[in-house]
Amino acid sequence: MQLSRAARIILVGAPGVGKGTQTERMLKRFPQLSSISSGDLLRENVRKRTPLGIQAESTMKRGDLIPDSTILRLILSELISHGWLTTDAPRTMTLNSASAAGATAESGDDDDAFITSSPLTSQKYNFSEDPNASFILDGFPRTAAQALQLDDLIPINLVVNITTPTAIILDRICNRWVHAPSGRVYNTTFNAPKEEGKDDITGEPLTRRADDDPDTWKNRLQKFEETSMPLLEHYDRKGVLWTVQGNSSDEISPKLFAEFGKTFGRNQT
Ligand code: ATP
Ligand code: MG
Repeated sequence: MQLSRAARIILVGAPGVGKGTQTERMLKRFPQLSSISSGDLLRENVRKRTPLGIQAESTMKRGDLIPDSTILRLILSELISHGWLTTDAPRTMTLNSASAAGATAESGDDDDAFITSSPLTSQKYNFSEDPNASFILDGFPRTAAQALQLDDLIPINLVVNITTPTAIILDRICNRWVHAPSGRVYNTTFNAPKEEGKDDITGEPLTRRADDDPDTWKNRLQKFEETSMPLLEHYDRKGVLWTVQGNSSDEISPKLFAEFGKTFGRNQT
């Protein structure tokens, strides 16, 4: 389905609720959409041992949140490198070299720009209403403070709040396996890889996420519960909040597709 205008969506939901799974499905269904996952970006930085990754690793292992300023700079540079945000000012090295998914931080110099203070966030940006500039943000913003900062850069026009009973999520987390380089997610009970322990596309080995043990997950859930209410209230006030319930990703996807089509589809207004 073709879109009638630019969709700028964020997904909000407890850790393990299936935001990544819904994102993957949305991208397949609506080819004009692209996505940024804050968790995947951070894990990529950890894997590549960038200064930002080294700094973030222990926080993530505990299930705590990365400082707002760090995550904002990371996301901002992604929004710029995808071309979703543009500036009239000449672009700096940092902006040019921060590339799209896969190469967040290739040279050490750029990484330093993320963790030391940078002028990125104080600039003014432009954004396009072209449907091809549509995106899903998975995992960002996560706090009302992050949302306020994003509002200053680019307005979000649909917030999808995904809710699933926590007992069901915990069960799932214990069976979750990931293909780290791509972020593809499997579950040994309901979405098993074709060959055990191997990624369907590349055949590479699957791994467990460092923060997917039950104790860390409980801390992540607690952080989510502390931060999500003010976040959701913020977007509710703006009139863009939509809540969907379901016990499984399969139950949620059709509802999400329908709502999205209704809001952004070609034949809608
Ligand atoms: P899931 O991926 O299962 O939906 P999740 O939402 O808890 O669960 P990620 O979004 O992958 O997991 O995030 C993993 C970790 O990365 C978080 O626990 C946190 O430490 C860090 N992180 C990700 N996004 C943010 C953010 N917007 N602000 C602060 N920390 C973040
Ligand atoms: Mg995720």
